[in-house]
Amino acid sequence: MGTRRILTYGAPILRQPTRRVTDLDGDLQRLIDDMVETMYAAPGLGLAANQVGSPHRLFVANPAENRDPAKLLIMLNPELVETEGEILFEEGCLSIPDFREDVRRARRALLRGIDRNGRPLEVEGEQLLARIFQHEMDHLNGLFFVDRLSPAKRFLLGMKLKRAFLDPKT
Ligand SMILES: [Zn+2]
Repeated sequence: MGTRRILTYGAPILRQPTRRVTDLDGDLQRLIDDMVETMYAAPGLGLAANQVGSPHRLFVANPAENRDPAKLLIMLNPELVETEGEILFEEGCLSIPDFREDVRRARRALLRGIDRNGRPLEVEGEQLLARIFQHEMDHLNGLFFVDRLSPAKRFLLGMKLKRAFLDPKT
């Protein structure tokens, strides 16, 4: 086990949709363990595989501040099957350190996928957990939370992001 480097805004793999997991082999199990350790070390509430450079469609999350192991969620090939309501709340991202913005998200979300052993997994989240689900699903589809902002906000933030991550020397 070990932590992996978290890629930041500008890394091409973060803009690519991830691929469905088919092999639940040793390499994948190691990746999952490393992702959990990396998420806790960051610290963060969720982490998608492409954030550590893997093209697989999977994420790990734990909304509990005390890292209660019972709250740890490992989800492979997740699909967002149902959303409800709307909530505006501040959001950040391990791949965009030091940037936080209010993002509109569904209040409740239902996810369907499989666990690390290939068993069907269905999880419903509200509030914070629903927000984490939607944030990680965005990552798995090559999106960032900043893509959810209004065009005017995105324009202003885009220049700051460019300066911070894409060409920091200019
Ligand atoms: Zn993120």
